[in-house]
Amino acid sequence: MYDPKSSTATEFIDHQEILDTLAYAESNKSNRFLIEQLIERAQDCQGLTHREAAVLLACDLPDLNEKLFSLAKAIKQKIYGNRIVMFAPLYLSNYCINGCVYCPYHLKNKHISRKKLSQDDIRREVIALQDMGHKRLALEAGEHPTENTMDYYLESIKTIYDIKHKNGAIRRVNINIAATTVENYRKLKDAGIGTYILFQETYHKQAYEELHPSGPKSDYAYHTEAMDRAMQGGIDDVGLGVLYGLNLYRYDFVGILMHAEHLEAAFGVGPHTISVPRIKRADDINPDDFDNGIDDDTFIKIIAVLRIAVPYTGMIISTRESADVRARALEVGISQISGASSTSVGGYAQQEDKETDNSAQFDVSDNRTLDEVVGWLLGKGHLPSFCTACYREGRTGDRFMRLAKTGQIANCCQPNAIMTLKEYLEDYASSSTKAIGEKVIADELNHIDHPNTKRITQERLTQIAAGERDFRF
Ligand code: SAM
Repeated sequence: MYDPKSSTATEFIDHQEILDTLAYAESNKSNRFLIEQLIERAQDCQGLTHREAAVLLACDLPDLNEKLFSLAKAIKQKIYGNRIVMFAPLYLSNYCINGCVYCPYHLKNKHISRKKLSQDDIRREVIALQDMGHKRLALEAGEHPTENTMDYYLESIKTIYDIKHKNGAIRRVNINIAATTVENYRKLKDAGIGTYILFQETYHKQAYEELHPSGPKSDYAYHTEAMDRAMQGGIDDVGLGVLYGLNLYRYDFVGILMHAEHLEAAFGVGPHTISVPRIKRADDINPDDFDNGIDDDTFIKIIAVLRIAVPYTGMIISTRESADVRARALEVGISQISGASSTSVGGYAQQEDKETDNSAQFDVSDNRTLDEVVGWLLGKGHLPSFCTACYREGRTGDRFMRLAKTGQIANCCQPNAIMTLKEYLEDYASSSTKAIGEKVIADELNHIDHPNTKRITQERLTQIAAGERDFRF
């Protein structure tokens, strides 16, 4: 029986409720009256239910689809302004005992190079990332009981936060590792992680079990209930995602919204972020072997309807996607992107020879440097932000959501984005990026409503130019 408050995976992600939702969406896909009503109502940024969002995703009326894209853009603009948060993944280890059939880390893959970073390796990687200008990382690892232990993660997080190289610093470490216990989540929280990220891959239980034939990750309930345990362990910023291409996208679209509704119903706070990865070619993995790939237009529509359905949830796109697709995705609601990513273990300090020494998780489609990505964003009217202030100021979970929903968060985000961009321009930018960045900063200052905040921000920009760092509201 469907119950969003239940702590049992198959009750908060109820298969029959998803099937009923899909049937409802299909029968209303040309229902102009209903779709217009939903678009109208969603303008107040209160979001939509999974059923309502499924109708918008199914909508086959071209003029209303156009309206839906405009609405997604308007919501992004209203809540996030021009800001786009920047981050990079850091691969710690690709040792893994799982059998995930889409992932090159799977246990039976004998030709991938298996690597795990030592603490010295981590220092080298982090210095390379700091030298690009990164301030926020997402740690990534396979699942292995003796190689990738909780103690290893905790030590690595401490190492990362402690590295201060020139003006560099990693100020927020998010982590994407296998489902674990409440006790371990508590340790991660105490170590100062930002968001705990775990992709569901697919919400369809039978498909999930076929895609994960062996290893601890094959347990659908343990994986699906991981975010509940993370919340019980005190982590109130969690990041969801499904891997598009594995299962029917409409099913997983409804599933992820039901998961968000569950977290809201059970813990009073929805997901902090939703990622939208699509399956990619990788060592031993051919995406064409999976039948459910989605084209770019469908992908963009998914992002747009998610933005409308969960307006206050950050949305993340990685370098799995090309610059062109990322540009389109940014227009309809993405609020965080990675830049200059390496998916290899140790790939920032030293490039691998792909023929003889490949530890990469998947091929990236956007190979630009961080400076190129930042310059490109600025040129398109976005405001790249290296801000990490919220969780450092204790603005997490429902506290963050309360401030976000009342619009107050913008009083912090906008000046923080401007000040952290200024740091980037001073320390890392090329002269062309610096020139356009200074112009964008001058414009974006006008979007700080509060005169006092604007004045303080201007003063701090002068202090940053004089060499001071790490101001935040
Ligand atoms: N080990 C962690 C777990 O158990 O979920 C996850 C870390 S893994 C490094 C991060 C994510 O990469 C996975 O959750 C999966 O969605 C994604 N991934 C795996 N294989 C992929 C592929 N071939 N193309 C694109 N993304 C992939």
